[in-house]
Amino acid sequence: MAKGCCDSCDSIRLASVEAKCSDCCDVQVGSANHSGYVPNDIGIGGGDYIEIDYCLDCGKIQGDFPLESSRLEENEDYDDDDDDDDDEDDEDEDEDEE
Ligand SMILES: [Zn+2]
Repeated sequence: MAKGCCDSCDSIRLASVEAKCSDCCDVQVGSANHSGYVPNDIGIGGGDYIEIDYCLDCGKIQGDFPLESSRLEENEDYDDDDDDDDDEDDEDEDEDEE
């Protein structure tokens, strides 16, 4: 991911941070708050880890910005994210025991 120089100023003084905080991540965007795992749609990693690369010269956080509107901004609850798409194997063929 790190490509060796800053997106903004081409400095090579990039700091890469990886911090495991698991579900102890507090994020505020505007008036919305989130406590729990790291949101994966605000450019700082996601899940258990905060992962950011930033420039020690200009402070720019490296990444693909602007980001789309985050779920936090949409007031959606990240903790509801259990994929209820449990793909149960319904395709078991009927075993005709004879
Ligand atoms: Zn920079």
